[in-house]
Amino acid sequence: MKKIDIHCHVSLFPEYDLPRLNGTKTMSAEEQISVHDKLNVELGVILPIVSPEGIWKNGTNSVAKVLCDQNPGRFSWFCNIDPRMGTNSTTTDFTRVLMFYKELGAKGVGELTANIYADDPKMDNMFYHCAQCDMPVLVHISEGQGRGYGIADDLGLPRIEKMLRKYPDLRIIGHSACFWSEISSDNTDETRGGYPEGKVKEGRIAQLMREYGNLYCDLSAGSGSRAMMRDPEYAAKFLTEFSDRIYYGTDVCAVTQTFQYRFDEFLTGLVTDKMITEETYEKIVRKNAAKLLEINE
Ligand SMILES: [Zn+2]
Repeated sequence: MKKIDIHCHVSLFPEYDLPRLNGTKTMSAEEQISVHDKLNVELGVILPIVSPEGIWKNGTNSVAKVLCDQNPGRFSWFCNIDPRMGTNSTTTDFTRVLMFYKELGAKGVGELTANIYADDPKMDNMFYHCAQCDMPVLVHISEGQGRGYGIADDLGLPRIEKMLRKYPDLRIIGHSACFWSEISSDNTDETRGGYPEGKVKEGRIAQLMREYGNLYCDLSAGSGSRAMMRDPEYAAKFLTEFSDRIYYGTDVCAVTQTFQYRFDEFLTGLVTDKMITEETYEKIVRKNAAKLLEINE
């Protein structure tokens, strides 16, 4: 089955991008497609980064749209906004902005990287408008304000929970180390920003997923893939129980990365070993995303 990747960053002009501290750069469309071909991914969702905290990842709304137009059938896109956009106010009308991009074909909002508390009035205003426009939001969660890029929350994700409760029609797609470390209840302030290892003792993610039908998960990056691979038995249970609200993703930041191939083998291994059904696998790697992207199959 051809997969859909919910989480990509692609550059239009990599030669002009500021390299990251480790020297790598966001991939060009050609590079991203070559990685996708190796993974049997047909379509990737380009996520622009518009907040200053994450800007080295590159990409604007216009770039995402152009890359989709230049590579028909290979990319779809989310638009992105920053809660401080306009006049840094708590009452900015984001509906006008979101509807403009929605009409251009954007299927959601993200990846959100503004380093502001998830329940800050400006963030709240932005979530309100995303719910009004029926645009799902993919969030990168960080440890706190002044501690990395991404919307800030505390251990146990109480602030995201507040937003899930306040906006039941808003689909929030969780991503990042601070999100996935909550898969296990032994997560602490010391471990939550990294990649905790070992057997999972059911944690906050399963609780939140059960309580809030509007919470979704993004399996991309070291965070999502390691949260699954650390405990295959728990991963199989988790993927099966929440099979309708989990998306396969890569978030590969440079051609030199290889974790995505190990994760691909892990997922197909779960099917071969009959730990998850073919049906669960298909929903996660394609069908759930096809539904979100309104692809008729
Ligand atoms: Zn990302």
